[in-house]
Amino acid sequence: MMSKIVVVGSGVMGRGIAYVSAVGGYEVVLNDIKEEALNSAKKEIESIFAKGVSRGKILSEQSAAAQANLSYATDLKQVVADADLVIEAVPEIASIKKDIFETIEQYAPEHCRFASNTSTMSPTEIGSYTNRPEKTIAMHFFNPVHKMPLIEIIRGLETNDDTVAFIEGVADKMGKETVVVNEFPGFVTSRMSALVGNEAFYMLQEGLGTPEDIDKAIKLGLNYPMGPFELVDLVGLDARLNNLRYLHEKLGEKYRPAPLLEQYVKAGRLGRKSGKGVYDY
Ligand code: NAD
Repeated sequence: MMSKIVVVGSGVMGRGIAYVSAVGGYEVVLNDIKEEALNSAKKEIESIFAKGVSRGKILSEQSAAAQANLSYATDLKQVVADADLVIEAVPEIASIKKDIFETIEQYAPEHCRFASNTSTMSPTEIGSYTNRPEKTIAMHFFNPVHKMPLIEIIRGLETNDDTVAFIEGVADKMGKETVVVNEFPGFVTSRMSALVGNEAFYMLQEGLGTPEDIDKAIKLGLNYPMGPFELVDLVGLDARLNNLRYLHEKLGEKYRPAPLLEQYVKAGRLGRKSGKGVYDY
């Protein structure tokens, strides 16, 4: 029987994770509390499949088969009842994640493994929300998920070797490279990216240059593929702010969110997903 993955949260990341899971040959259910989020995710996923076929990245039969195995649902309790893996991709807010893990703990079968796409949080703490910390892990994807080659795997204190091996196998089926790292707030990638992105907001706030010039300097001078403002517009300013708040709490002053970033989020400038971030879309 085909293994089943449930992806919880159909935002920027969840929709991409559902796509790579379906392409990897899994039965997939994408879950969200908001019907409209699921509708928008479905549209975007269909467009990624269509582009993949037209650019020859995926065969049309493979695309049809993957789409036939992908469904959308708001009832989490029901869809996890026969899941083999649940991947959580809800906002980076501990209380929301805790609710999800406490629910899936009750309704998912005993063998089911739990992964969080958290950018910063402790998989040990997430595991403690469940009675199966040995089967709980962080599986950190990158945006846009269908293009970015890495999954950063972070084991918690209690995560067992079988779970690490299982998740490496899933990542391989998704066509991704992996690194397995030990727990520390922000791991390797978010710890670095949050710092660079926050510094860019301080520069903007200090009037050092326009967003265009700061992005250009970082791309052409430091050989980054994207400027920090282009990247934060893709990531979501709210998502970046949540990461910084967590890192600030755990690691101190170095990660204090730039006041200008806080202000942009207050103004609803969340990035590409809201039509306006540092840039207009
Ligand atoms: P997002 O805000 O785009 O999407 C979150 C989704 O979760 C929304 O659709 C929301 O309706 C849904 N949701 C909220 N509460 C829910 C619940 N109780 N049950 C089901 N769905 C619920 O967020 P995102 O940017 O996709 O981030 C999700 C996670 O991925 C966060 O932990 C974030 O740190 C991490 N992450 C984000 C990025 C990025 O570039 N945005 C990259 C790597 C990891």
